[in-house]
Amino acid sequence: MRDRAEVVIVGAGIMGLAIAYNLARHHGVTDIVVLDRGYLCGGASGRNGGGVRAQFSSADNIQLMQESIRLCRDFAQEMKINIWFRQGGYLFLVRSEEGRRMLERSVAVQNEHGLGTRMLLPIEAQRIVPELSTEGVVAASFNPDDGVVFPWPFVWGYAHAAEKLGVEIATFTQVTGFRTQGPRITSVLTDRGEIRTRKVINAAGAWSPEIARMLGVELPNRPHRHEICSTEPLKLWLGPLVSDLSNGLYFSQSMRGEIVGGISNEDVPPGLDMGSSHRFLALYGRALTRICPILGSVKVLRQWAGCYDLTPDQNPIVGRVDEIEHFYQASGFMGHGFMMAPVMGRLLAEVVAGGPETPLFLKWNLRRFKEGRLLTESMIIG
Ligand SMILES: Cc1cc2nc3c(=O)[nH]c(=O)nc-3n(C[C@H](O)[C@H](O)[C@H](O)COP(=O)(O)OP(=O)(O)OC[C@H]3O[C@@H](n4cnc5c(N)ncnc54)[C@H](O)[C@@H]3O)c2cc1C
Repeated sequence: MRDRAEVVIVGAGIMGLAIAYNLARHHGVTDIVVLDRGYLCGGASGRNGGGVRAQFSSADNIQLMQESIRLCRDFAQEMKINIWFRQGGYLFLVRSEEGRRMLERSVAVQNEHGLGTRMLLPIEAQRIVPELSTEGVVAASFNPDDGVVFPWPFVWGYAHAAEKLGVEIATFTQVTGFRTQGPRITSVLTDRGEIRTRKVINAAGAWSPEIARMLGVELPNRPHRHEICSTEPLKLWLGPLVSDLSNGLYFSQSMRGEIVGGISNEDVPPGLDMGSSHRFLALYGRALTRICPILGSVKVLRQWAGCYDLTPDQNPIVGRVDEIEHFYQASGFMGHGFMMAPVMGRLLAEVVAGGPETPLFLKWNLRRFKEGRLLTESMIIG
């Protein structure tokens, strides 16, 4: 491992790797070490549902995700790897009048920004997925451009492309601390030695608060376990990812045929827990077969869990911090950080390479929590 680098990135999840790739590819910064305590795909980036959508409620998230979807379309060609990207749309369901109003407001903002999202009656939702039981469903929204990817090759694609450009990815290397001089970082300490550097990016996902704390910076993020499972492969029949916003249920069919899905479980206490539970299977199984009864006889093959990285206002924390020079944040991506990585990787690389912080970065800065400028995002799954 190098003992000095222009930039050190903590975390080789999708976010750290996307930033590394963009720094090297678009800014000529190749003297980068990306450190990860485990293996590639060991964090949330290898444990997620692979959903990619532009249906959000805030203009910022909608616009960012429009760009991310464009980048997903070009990814296979650029990286020479198949990410099994399939645009079958996202079908959101709500079960209350309040939910319908929220969807209507969100769809109006999405349409203003050029998305083809439509509000649907339950019966129209059923035309998209005839196997759905829409009993109790009040309204739905559908955007045909949303889709799903297979997360692992997406991570590998960034990793291989970054390595080809000269980036070093050191797996099984845990960051244990930092050396500083006043507000300046002078080196990163790891269990495999020290790397002298002035610039550090905190892309450690649910572990980001631990990394920030090593430098005296308090992040308000909380890790929260989310479970997920996949079934035996079925013939392709399900077009969109379906999500019931009333209970955080979501399920989609991968290009390989498995039904991949999960549900929110508010009984899980905050913490860095990646264990699996029977309770999840019961909750998910009940909700799934209520909404899609024909799935009742399908066998679950794999169950696993990962950590969401939650922030108090459901929006990420990105960019510089006041306390430490050149210590950049890229965390707090909730349950939608995978899809944000293509575009956030690009934007963060610009800032780290010396570009100005855009209005988005000023909005999504850590400072907002001290200043009480909390943001809102209503279309959160789980
Ligand atoms: C069940 C589940 C379903 C999800 N579904 C979706 C979805 O459909 N669509 C979507 O967009 N998002 C989804 N997400 C969220 C998404 O997976 C995350 O937002 C995203 O992967 C975060 O990427 P990251 O690179 O920030 O974090 P991670 O992938 O967690 O990477 C952080 C890395 O930091 C490393 N690290 C931690 N501490 C240290 C240390 N001290 N030293 C060195 N390395 C360290 C970890 O090992 C880890 O690999 C889901 C998440 C879960 C858990």
